[in-house]
Amino acid sequence: MSKIIDGKALSMSIKEDIKDKVSAAVSAGLRRPCLAVLIVGDNPASRSYVKGKVSAAEFVGIDSPLIELPESISNEELLAEVRRLNEDPSVDGILVQLPLPGHIDADAVLDAIAVSKDVDGFNPANVAALWLGRPCFVPCTPRGVISLIESTGVEISGKTAVVVGRSNIVGKPVAKLLLDRNATVTIAHSRTKDLASVTRQADILVAAVGCPGMISADMIKPGAVVIDVGINRTADGRLAGDVDYEGASEVAGYITPVPGGVGPMTIAMLMENTFESYSHSMVAPGLEEMS
Ligand code: NAD
Repeated sequence: MSKIIDGKALSMSIKEDIKDKVSAAVSAGLRRPCLAVLIVGDNPASRSYVKGKVSAAEFVGIDSPLIELPESISNEELLAEVRRLNEDPSVDGILVQLPLPGHIDADAVLDAIAVSKDVDGFNPANVAALWLGRPCFVPCTPRGVISLIESTGVEISGKTAVVVGRSNIVGKPVAKLLLDRNATVTIAHSRTKDLASVTRQADILVAAVGCPGMISADMIKPGAVVIDVGINRTADGRLAGDVDYEGASEVAGYITPVPGGVGPMTIAMLMENTFESYSHSMVAPGLEEMS
């Protein structure tokens, strides 16, 4: 039976730590960190994600003004809003909740976010810095995946890692972060032949596909660390990951549940990135060491 990697507990300890640092900064007379959250339209899933992010910010003491914009907003108006936040010195991080309505040029909006406030890490300059190994904001979900793996104590260096999924926001950056930690990395995807024979090689297996239960027990190497990024809504309204949790937990060494694995860690990492941005922008002796 595998050990459960408890993302909820780990994310709570990270948030508690940030809360202490924010509280120390405020006690030292500094302003609070600020994460501006922009949401366009009424997509219920986006509203629920945004709610989770704002309530985590409240918990740690980060101001999080929610800027609600109508579905009908024009590209130019949205860009103007982003530029206004870029120029506001009291804003440390800007998050634009995706997806944006079809008439909006989402790439242009993400490109417009100042690199120094791009706490989601989606601006191409941040992506380039990540791939070049330069200082950058590491995107939140991939950063959370690495923390979850590291929390097991299993050494990443020298291991065979397989990432299933090659999206820009999860699969590719997770693969890069594993490579940085000296894993031997394979990225599998929708055109991979005989996926099971690839995943069975993995000491560390990350599933980021968006297909409920597609990674079955027979696709997992006994003892592997299995990180399930998938969040899928099943026909009966339940949340399910990309991994068949029941079966996989008989084979894997460590496994993340859904919910309670990667999801809460993504939010904790958003708080971490915002606090990092804040600590870089404040001129205060001792604050750097707190980040
Ligand atoms: P995406 O749709 O952009 O990418 C999915 C990837 O899976 C693609 O690269 C595709 O090649 C691959 N794929 C599709 N079918 C496949 C198959 N049969 N075999 C192998 N590979 C296949 O998705 P995404 O944005 O990377 O998200 C993936 C999942 O992670 C979704 O369920 C999403 O909801 C979830 N997600 C969770 C969090 C979180 O915080 N936990 C964050 C982002 C995404």
